[in-house]
Amino acid sequence: MRHVDPCPFCHSPDTKLIKIDRHEWAVVCNGCRASGPIANIPAKAAEQWSHARQQSDKVLPER
Ligand SMILES: [Zn+2]
Repeated sequence: MRHVDPCPFCHSPDTKLIKIDRHEWAVVCNGCRASGPIANIPAKAAEQWSHARQQSDKVLPER
C-alpha cells in the first residue's frame, strides 16, 4: 500500500487512496470524510493531498 500522509484537516492517520474512475484517484480520510484533489495517477493524488493542508477549505466529494 502506498504511503499517504495523515489527514491535514483532522490529523487522522486513517487515510487511503481510492480509485474513483479509470484515471481518477483521490485520497480520502475516514476520520472526517475529507477528500483530496482528484488526480490521474495515485502518486499525484497523494502528493496533492499532502499539499491540501496549505488550503483553508476542504475539498469535498461532488457525489
Ligand atoms: Zn480527516
